[in-house]
Amino acid sequence: MKAERVETVAAIRARVARARGRGKTVALVPTMGALHTGHGELIRRARSEADFVVVSVFVNPIQFNSAEDFELYPRTLETDIDFCGRFGADAVFAPSAREMYPEPQLAFVEVSSLGDSFCGEFRPGHFRGVATVVAKLLNIVQPDRAYFGEKDAQQLAVIRRMVADLNLPIAIIPVATVREPDGLAMSSRNARLKPEDRAAAPLIYEALQAAARAVAEGGAPEKAKRAGMEVLARDPRFQVEYFECADPATMKIAERISGPVLILAAVWLGGVRLIDNILCGQHRSN
Ligand code: AMP
Repeated sequence: MKAERVETVAAIRARVARARGRGKTVALVPTMGALHTGHGELIRRARSEADFVVVSVFVNPIQFNSAEDFELYPRTLETDIDFCGRFGADAVFAPSAREMYPEPQLAFVEVSSLGDSFCGEFRPGHFRGVATVVAKLLNIVQPDRAYFGEKDAQQLAVIRRMVADLNLPIAIIPVATVREPDGLAMSSRNARLKPEDRAAAPLIYEALQAAARAVAEGGAPEKAKRAGMEVLARDPRFQVEYFECADPATMKIAERISGPVLILAAVWLGGVRLIDNILCGQHRSN
């Protein structure tokens, strides 16, 4: 099945209205394109849980704080549309920047504190840009359900809180991180890695697992962090932006382990910024 390419807000609203008129439920999968199997899993889930599936493909300028990063972000729209069709999407909403931002954006959604730490600290304004574009997409498509990857754990936390705080009548569905066979989390940015960097990249997941083991053994957050950092130190090409144990509810550094712990990493490898995380420690009582 081929997914229909839709470029304007009016046209996607008309497609959704038609589906609604036929009693269909609607799902949205927001993406920035350069789709891979991780995105495919979101679309597959959406397909199995809703009648009309929209995938948005939009490289959102207001969430980038480096013009170079924005320019270098991979853009593969034609193959993305075929990909969406193979995974059963009905429509691909691929607006231009002018369609999304006909005037300079003056209204923003800010999920304070949740979006200030970790990626928010190193990419100021990033989560404001993310929350704003997701709010716009949710208002344009007005789905029953929207799908987000746990790979971007802080983004997921920000979106969930935005939807709760603003009473948006939309279910946010988290989807587990899809990994390459060697453990590297799938990411559109992986395509930018040089072969030797791609070969080294699975060390990120190894480091997260080492930290998770330390937590499972009852280690304090600093011990878990040390265990992970030791793994990354094996290869000097890794520049660690942050590697921390966080409280998933507040997105602050965990002072002690007293419930679920999110181990979060952001590293630079050959000029490419990669993030990954794992959730652990949730089986502890008190
Ligand atoms: P992006 O195109 O990178 O903005 O991602 C679009 C959506 O796909 C986000 O909700 C991501 O969290 C999700 N996603 C990206 N990579 C993966 C992955 N490896 N596994 C699961 N979800 C992913």
